[in-house]
Parts: sequence; C-alpha cells; structure tokens
Amino acid sequence: MSIPGARRGLMLVLSSPSGAGKTTMTKRLLATDPQISLSVSATTRKPRVGEIDGQDYQFVDQDHFDRMVQTGQFLEWATVFGNRYGTPRGPVEQALTEGRDILFDIDWQGTQQLRQSQSGGDLVSIFLLPPSLEELESRLKQRASDSADVITQRMSRAADEISHWAEYDYILVNDDPGQCLHEIRSILTTERLRRERQRGLAGFVRDLLAGE
Ligand code: 5GP
Repeated sequence: MSIPGARRGLMLVLSSPSGAGKTTMTKRLLATDPQISLSVSATTRKPRVGEIDGQDYQFVDQDHFDRMVQTGQFLEWATVFGNRYGTPRGPVEQALTEGRDILFDIDWQGTQQLRQSQSGGDLVSIFLLPPSLEELESRLKQRASDSADVITQRMSRAADEISHWAEYDYILVNDDPGQCLHEIRSILTTERLRRERQRGLAGFVRDLLAGE
C-alpha cells in the first residue's frame, strides 16, 4: 500500500514592521525548505540596489499596475509608503492546487484581503515583532539603502503595523533570529499536518480500515 502525499498547499504570510527581520527570515526559510516558494509581488516602487526584477519584485510602472488591477490579476493589493504592491493571482492558485506552499511577505492590509478571499482557509499568518522600538530603529539605520526621511516614515508606520498584531494566527518576537526561524519552521510543519489539509489521505485510511 502506498501512502498518498497529496495535500493542498498553504499560504504562509509573514508580516512585520520594516526592520523586524522579516527579509532575513524569508530568505533563510526559502533556502532551506524546498516545499515552499515566494510569491513575487508586483510593485510601483523603484528597485533598491541589489534587487532583481522578477525575483525580488516585478517592478512595474503606474499604468501597468492599473491594468493589472482592472483585469483582476491581483489576489490582493495595497498602497504602502506611497507605493503600490500587489500579489499576482495566477502563480498562487496554481501552487495551492498542486500542493505547493507559498510564502507571502505582505503587510496587514494584504493579509486582511487574503483572509477574506476564496482561499482564506489556506491562510496561515505570522506576525513578527521586534524586541523593542529602539532595536527596530537601529536596524533601519544600518540599512544604507533608505534615506533619513524614509526611516522616519517607517518608524511612524511601525506602530500602525504593530497595532494589527491581534489579527494574526501566530506572534513571534524576533530577539534571536535562529530561534525565530526554528519557530517559523515548527508552525509550518504543524500546519502542513492539519487534517483539513490532508484530505488526500481519506482513501489511504479507508484501505487501512479495510485491512488492504
Ligand atoms: P518594501 O518596499 O520594503 O520591500 O516593502 C514595504 C512593505 O510592503 C512591506 O511591509 C511588505 O511586506 C509590503 N508588501 C510587499 N509586497 C506586498 C504585496 O504584494 N501586497 C501587500 N499588501 N504588501 C506588500
């Protein structure tokens, strides 16, 4: 008797204020877990140094973004820091059907929209908190890529982002990146094993009970 591996994929959302370590967690998780891939968002923001089009984001202009909105190509979209960001629908729906998991680095507005979408039952959401606001500010200052006024803007947005923490399934405080990654992996493992994601096992259990 063979054990069917087929299960529906899940949507893992990782949200946090900028500087709480989300990008590091995302990169480490993707590098070590072959069952999960990143949802590459489209954005009207200009690329930062080192960012690759099609890999970090799909960088588009306002008109292109508008067309994507009008033709229903986004699962969700939102304006963050004056730029627009959106999750392309096609790759996500395909991954879920094929039993592959998708990781989303999106904000609370996008998470709310995903929760209300048809795929809301596939959502697992994690909110990453910084150990303190001082730590958050110092991490933002270490990033050479952002100007001083962008940093001030991000600090003022941090409190707003954090105020949505209670809308998430899991809350992690990132004071130790290794431990935090371990916790994210544990959540992922547990959520993959939930009964409702393993309906593909029904036939296997029937055979077990029939003694076949
Ligand atoms: P950044 O410009 O620093 O890459 O991202 C700024 C914020 O936009 C981050 O909080 C990030 O999670 C969020 N973001 C990135 N892509 C998307 C998206 O497709 N949808 C939404 N709602 N937020 C996004």
